Amino acid sequence: MHPVATLDHRYVWHPFTQMRDWLRREPILLAEGRGAVLRDIRGREYLDANSSIWTQLHGHGHPAINRALARQMGKLSHCSALGFANEPAARLAAGLVQAASAEAPARGRGGARLAKVFFSDNGSTAMEVGLKLAYEYARRVKRIARPRFLSLQGAYHGDTVGAVSLGHIDLFHKAYGGLLFKSDRVMAPYCYRCPFNRARPERADAREYRVCGWECVSAVEGKLSRARKLGRPYAGFVVEPLMQGAAGMIPQPEGWLRKVAGAARQAGALILADEVMTGFGRTGIPSPSRGAGLFACHREGVVPDFLALAKGLTGGYLPMAATLTTEPVFEAFLGEYSEFKTFFHGHSFTGNPLGAAASLASLDLLLTPGSVRARARLERWMRADLATLWDLPQVGDVRQVGLVAGVELVRDWRRRTPFDLAERRGIRVCERMASRGVLTRPIGNVIVLMPPYCTTRAQLRRMVEALRESIAEG
Ligand SMILES: *Cc1c(COP(=O)(O)O)cnc(C)c1O
Repeated sequence: MHPVATLDHRYVWHPFTQMRDWLRREPILLAEGRGAVLRDIRGREYLDANSSIWTQLHGHGHPAINRALARQMGKLSHCSALGFANEPAARLAAGLVQAASAEAPARGRGGARLAKVFFSDNGSTAMEVGLKLAYEYARRVKRIARPRFLSLQGAYHGDTVGAVSLGHIDLFHKAYGGLLFKSDRVMAPYCYRCPFNRARPERADAREYRVCGWECVSAVEGKLSRARKLGRPYAGFVVEPLMQGAAGMIPQPEGWLRKVAGAARQAGALILADEVMTGFGRTGIPSPSRGAGLFACHREGVVPDFLALAKGLTGGYLPMAATLTTEPVFEAFLGEYSEFKTFFHGHSFTGNPLGAAASLASLDLLLTPGSVRARARLERWMRADLATLWDLPQVGDVRQVGLVAGVELVRDWRRRTPFDLAERRGIRVCERMASRGVLTRPIGNVIVLMPPYCTTRAQLRRMVEALRESIAEG
């Protein structure tokens, strides 16, 4: 055992990890990264097939982000946003508002444009900020005494107590029920396991949705309108647009988001879009002529009232997050000091200049035509390579939205019978992939493939080949 591994085993408690399993094996100790490649402390190389838990956009050690960080470090690494301003944070806020409006659909119904940015540290805090602002806005402006929120079956919005309250993954969330406020859950689309039998009985293809009766939209509409009729309207509707990540990389059929967002608006609910995973180009380029495809909402013509961003914000370098919101929400907190309308919320590292400098460099990169082209190309390669997995009997579904993919393993693909979670199928496949030099992490029986945007043709082939061989091993 490497001496550093001994230290890890003795002292570190890892997130979302059964530590008994962890302590049974020598950990992979990552020491260096360049592009899509990570190197461990002994010099062995791996491909980063989930972009270091969905954060890295341009790959490790990108020269432009490194330069921006070095420059900023030479000036100022941190100062407080409580009482002071700094240049990178101010420029980043402008850049984010600009990026969010540049691609916003002109016909985006109902909502005001995103105009203000509140910084925090991670995806969970970005959601907490949106939640608290929406709650207070609903009380002050809509005169709702006890604002309630509606979120999706399978939703994951982070691990702080407010974010967990919006979540509906029993495995993660049930234990803490006593700590949480109640939020309502509503059916989310999961076409592969559609309870209305709308999915075709054989392997999925695009025609699957043709016979769909939009029962999953009706479920949301029904919930929203019933609440309104009962005089207890929802203050907010919380959604991860286009694809629910931690739920198992579950895509929404085209049109779903537009329809449910319309229903939420009609019922008077604010829309909280969690683009912590989907943001910054992850969901692909609809058409390069229409922009860089930075946000998933825009694909369906939706302008949310809150947009939560984290993971890829800094290009995946640093813990920084942003919650964008509208002028009307901002105004609900304006007043004389003595009115105590202030948003009493903030963190020690809010608006951190290093994080903001990295984010600005990343945003610049995303908007270059070269990056847009590379993403469009990588998306095509992924589609081609992933299609080769269909003939494996353990593969039930292959789902891809832009540059994110999930491969669902099943015991019997004809019946779509899932593997028992206790069998640790997904974990075992990922362990075998690691031994083949490819790193990713499963969600239950779903193997995630989410390569950095710099991934080359050959690297992607190796990722999918390792995935294929590791699944085929049984
Ligand atoms: C990861 C994630 C979060 C939580 O972000 P953290 O930075 O891990 O707190 C919230 N929402 C979504 C959709 C995520 O994928």
